[in-house]
Amino acid sequence: MFDTRFDKKKFQTEIQENLKNLFRKSVEDASSQELFQAVSFAVKEVIMDDWMKTKKTEKKEESKVVVYLSMEFLVGRALGNNLINMKNYKMVEEALDELGVDLNALEDEERDPALGNGGLGRLAACFLDSLATLGYPAYGCGIRYRYGMFRQKIEEGYQKEIPDDWLMNGYPFELRRPEYTQEVRFGGNIRVEHDEFNNAKFIQENYQSVNAVLYEIPIIGYNNHMVNSLCVWDAEPIVNFRLDSFDSGDYYKAVEQENVARNIVDVLYPNDNHYAGKELRLKQQYFFISASLQSALKALKERGYAVKEMDKKIIFQMNDTHPTVAVAELMRLLVDEEGLSWEEAWGITSKCCAYTNHTIMSEALEKWPIDLFSRLLPRIYQIIQEIDRRFVEQIHQRYPGNEEKVRRMSILCDGQVRMAHLAIAAAFSVNGVARLHTEILKHQELKDFYEMMPEKFNNKTNGVTQRRFLLHANPELSNWITDKLGTEDFATNLELLENLKPLADNDNALSEFMGIKRKNKERLAAYIKKHNNIEVDVDSIFDVQVKRLHEYKRQLLNILHVMYVYNQMKEHPEKSYYKRTYIFGAKASAGYTRAKEIIKLINSVAEVVNNDRSINGKLKVVFIEDYRVSNAEIIFAAADVSEQISTASKEASGTGNMKFMMNGAVTLGTMDGANVEIVEEVGRENAFIFGLSSEEVIHFEKNGGYNPWDIYNQDQDIRKVLDQLVDGTYGNGDKELYRNIYDSLLSPKDGSMADMYFILKDFASYRDAQEQVDAAYRDQKRWAKMALLNTASCGKFSSDRTIEEYVADIWHSKKIKVGEE
Ligand SMILES: *Cc1c(COP(=O)(O)O)cnc(C)c1O
Repeated sequence: MFDTRFDKKKFQTEIQENLKNLFRKSVEDASSQELFQAVSFAVKEVIMDDWMKTKKTEKKEESKVVVYLSMEFLVGRALGNNLINMKNYKMVEEALDELGVDLNALEDEERDPALGNGGLGRLAACFLDSLATLGYPAYGCGIRYRYGMFRQKIEEGYQKEIPDDWLMNGYPFELRRPEYTQEVRFGGNIRVEHDEFNNAKFIQENYQSVNAVLYEIPIIGYNNHMVNSLCVWDAEPIVNFRLDSFDSGDYYKAVEQENVARNIVDVLYPNDNHYAGKELRLKQQYFFISASLQSALKALKERGYAVKEMDKKIIFQMNDTHPTVAVAELMRLLVDEEGLSWEEAWGITSKCCAYTNHTIMSEALEKWPIDLFSRLLPRIYQIIQEIDRRFVEQIHQRYPGNEEKVRRMSILCDGQVRMAHLAIAAAFSVNGVARLHTEILKHQELKDFYEMMPEKFNNKTNGVTQRRFLLHANPELSNWITDKLGTEDFATNLELLENLKPLADNDNALSEFMGIKRKNKERLAAYIKKHNNIEVDVDSIFDVQVKRLHEYKRQLLNILHVMYVYNQMKEHPEKSYYKRTYIFGAKASAGYTRAKEIIKLINSVAEVVNNDRSINGKLKVVFIEDYRVSNAEIIFAAADVSEQISTASKEASGTGNMKFMMNGAVTLGTMDGANVEIVEEVGRENAFIFGLSSEEVIHFEKNGGYNPWDIYNQDQDIRKVLDQLVDGTYGNGDKELYRNIYDSLLSPKDGSMADMYFILKDFASYRDAQEQVDAAYRDQKRWAKMALLNTASCGKFSSDRTIEEYVADIWHSKKIKVGEE
């Protein structure tokens, strides 16, 4: 049960010692925050031993290491999850209980390290958890943003962004490693020198440079003593003025360097699936990539390997195009610093680098203006020119005379550097993140590349870690499953949940299952009462849509449907409606006006609906502020309906859908992303599927869309909802508040396609699906069956499965066992 090396008495003493040394306090007079710190440091102390052993074993076994390069790691709170993975959660709970301290309350003292936007960053965090759990040596490499994702406040229905000073009280789990500091250079010019054999040497001059300082965060494997590292880089000025000959020139130079360094890691850009073209963002990208690659190369040499053996020992997995400057930086290091020939360097680079594509949406594609790029990274730009020259030559060879191909495929084009093209040209593997997404890449978006190099393309359907999203998020359900299966092994083998399937015909088990759901709904209801001061009925259907706010994710379709239901209740008070609580949670990027208007609309509808006594509380709308990993865990466990309603073809995979499924929520969704595979696993009869297919959406898009006025004119219920956007019903009488939303659906002022995301086109089909949800829920036993079968069928969606596929097809790394000595 417990890890024997975790001695309860010793642990309690350790906490008391920490309180004394850190705060000069005892358990009785320490604040919750101080207790959280003291407990976390005591846990870290235990982690340290395993961490050291892991590094030792890794060296001894001469392991090939996975380096996961990502601008984002949305790790969530560490304390509870670490205890789960160390198999000591219950012991620590007891130890604290004896000291009169509640572990749950301490967990709430931890600020979420919000070093990510949404799905992409959370995926990186799930992957690190799975890598450590499966025993693969791995490093996450990213940025230690001083301010993570902003904290969201809702004021008068509007989103307000508050800086997230997550390091305010320090972060107990990180470890500063100044001995690994790397210098990173920006700007200046390149001088070419020739040696006696006429070999060119490229020398960067007049550059500005900063120090990248490493912080390591331990990533703990489940029950295996493995501890991998998440390496995040901080930027510091290089201060090297000599105190003896201190003149004003030195001084001003130092101040200048300080300014260069200061802002690089200040903030995480809050754009999800959207490219903004900010110079500072490119600086961030090169900063962490250069630091990570220099450091990887040093480690390789320190372990006694030749640079030419690199591809046997390291694999760089690039999480989207954000880290793809790695391709050129690795070439620079190998050619300029290590003296390899271009061909040798390219051979290594293309065997070390693999690329994961996360989106097909054009607004998300990174295309840096060449003038900006070459000014900030002059040598890297030269290298990209050479990569492009050789790549274009290859295209010419394969498609002689086809200049159109070259235009479509080259890396440099129209004054821009196309990062996805750079990644595909260099990487030996290009993967999509769900089967449908990969097929769209191969046959639509990246068709030219697939035709020329089909061997590079492969699919890796995303997954999520059950340690966080089941064991930690839903202890009640985890205990029940353990009891029913007679084993805890599903913690590392999620497929075992299929053995729950026979229980779908066991009335007793079904009512236990729904009893647990009810308890989790009570927990969420208490959270909502505390944070929103809204009373919700736990016997209502909890219908949940939580994810970043984006037009393609169609929160607008959901809220327009709520407006429709409300109208129906008012017009037909005689009809019966099953009580429903519509729960939303979503951050909008600070500069995304339309997304913010949708948040305001949701809150306006909530205001009207929640305060209308005539509908007897049959309908409630709740907007949960500051959606993030810690409250997500509470939300998934409590959901009945999982809204996954993106416009088909737009959501590459989704991972929220998997977390809901794991916790026994039923998917209401389109045939998009991983929903397709979810339905395949659970059976179409245990989900509610609606809407256009991806083929239909793509077909309409190619033909300039459709005419939404036809729907407006034919369906009076939809018409009424649309009219309510501009008649003051939801704007406190302000008819202009939602005019832009109305226009975007019917006749956009900017000449773009009307109803680009097919909200009205899918409305009727969504409404039908929602009616089926209502009918299904009335039959409590039928619903319980569906819910249980969702949990029982989620085995495929463990990130453990995803990681094993990456290992088998791309990484080819080997497991290690961390020794007991
Ligand atoms: C899983 C997760 C996401 C991704 O959700 P999608 O529905 O797949 O977009 C975003 N944010 C948080 C906090 C998550 O846990």
